[in-house]
Amino acid sequence: MKDQLVVVTGGGGFIGGNLIADLRGQGYKKIRSVDIKPLQDWYQKFDDVDNLVLDLNIKENCEQAAQGAHTIFNLAANMGGMGFIEKNKALCMLSVLINTHMLQSAVKTGAQRYFFSSSACVYNADKQKTTDVAALKEEDAYPAMAEDGYGWEKLFSERMCRHFREDFGLWTRVARFHNIYGPYGTWDGGREKAPAAICRKVIHAKQTGNLEINIWGDGQQTRSFTYIDDCVKGIQLITESNILEPINLGSNELVTIDQMVDIVEEIVGIKVKRIYDLSAPKGVRGRNSDNTLIKKYLGWEPSIKLRDGMAKTYAWIHDQYMALHKK
Ligand code: NAD
Repeated sequence: MKDQLVVVTGGGGFIGGNLIADLRGQGYKKIRSVDIKPLQDWYQKFDDVDNLVLDLNIKENCEQAAQGAHTIFNLAANMGGMGFIEKNKALCMLSVLINTHMLQSAVKTGAQRYFFSSSACVYNADKQKTTDVAALKEEDAYPAMAEDGYGWEKLFSERMCRHFREDFGLWTRVARFHNIYGPYGTWDGGREKAPAAICRKVIHAKQTGNLEINIWGDGQQTRSFTYIDDCVKGIQLITESNILEPINLGSNELVTIDQMVDIVEEIVGIKVKRIYDLSAPKGVRGRNSDNTLIKKYLGWEPSIKLRDGMAKTYAWIHDQYMALHKK
C-alpha cells in the first residue's frame, strides 16, 4: 500500500499540505501533489514529492494528475471563509469541474480509492438558526437548503461521488468537514476563517498596542472547530472504511465566537476591546457536528481540544505575522 501512488489535489493548500506531511511521516513512498497555485505559494512543499502545478478545472490536467494513482484525495476547491464564499458563489460552484473531471479521470486511469472533501455547508439552513442548535446529523442535509453557492456545489458533488460508485464501481468516500483549523493554512488576505482571523487580529493588537479588534457578528454565534491532525487522521480512516454515505468529520466541542476570542486572549496573555460588526458576513447562527455515526463506524471521533489546537495555530500564525512585518 505504502509503495503505491497516492495523489493529493489541493496539495499546495492547507489540508492537502498537512495530509501529505502525514503520509510522508508514515512512510508513503510515492506521493503526487497537484495545485493550481505557483509552487512558491504552497504552504508546504516537499522535494521528495512529485509536485505538479495544474489547473484541475481542465479535464486533460485531471487525467495527468490521476495517471497511475492507487488512491486519490481530492481536496482542491476554490474556497475560503464566509467573507469569501458569500461574495464568490459562482467561483465556488465552478469547483464542480474539478470533482467531475477528477472522478472521470479516476475511472479512466483505474484508481482504487477516491476521497472527496465535502463540508458542513451542505446542511439545511433551517436547522442552524439558533445558537443552541441540535448537532447536525448526516440526514439533516435533506430536504436540501444548503449554503448558497459553495454548499450546493458540495452537495451535488457528494451525489456524483455516490453515482460514480454505484454506476462505475469506483470506491468513493466522502467526509463533511466542520471548520478545520491549524498551522500551514490561510491566515490573511480575505480567504481565512474565524480561528486564523482571530489569532491574527489579537497578535496585531498586541504588536501595535491598539487593543480594539473587529469581530464579525455579535460574538454569540456558535460553531465547533476541528484541529487539522484530527482531520488528517479522519480522512484516511474514512477513505479505507466501508462508510458509503457522506459522514461528519468534525469536533463536537461547541463554542461561541466570543469564547474563541477568550481562548486566544488567554494564550496571548492580553485582553482586547471587542468591536462587533453586525453588518459583516456571519454565516449560520449555530452549527455543531453530531458524531454518533462516525463513532459507530470507526469507534473514533475528533477529540483534540480547541484550547490545545489554538495554541499551536497561534504559534504558527505568530511566526508568519512576525516574518511578514519584519520585511
Ligand atoms: P485551501 O484553499 O487551503 O486548499 C484548496 C487548494 O485547492 C488551494 O491550494 C487551491 O489553490 C487549490 N485549487 C483551487 N482551484 C484549483 C484548481 N482549479 N486546480 C488545482 N488546484 C486548485 O483550502 P483547505 O482548507 O485546504 O480545503 C481543502 C478542501 O476541504 C476543499 O475542498 C474545501 O472545500 C474542503 N473543506 C475545508 C474546510 C475547512 O474548514 N478548511 C471545511 C469544509 C470543507
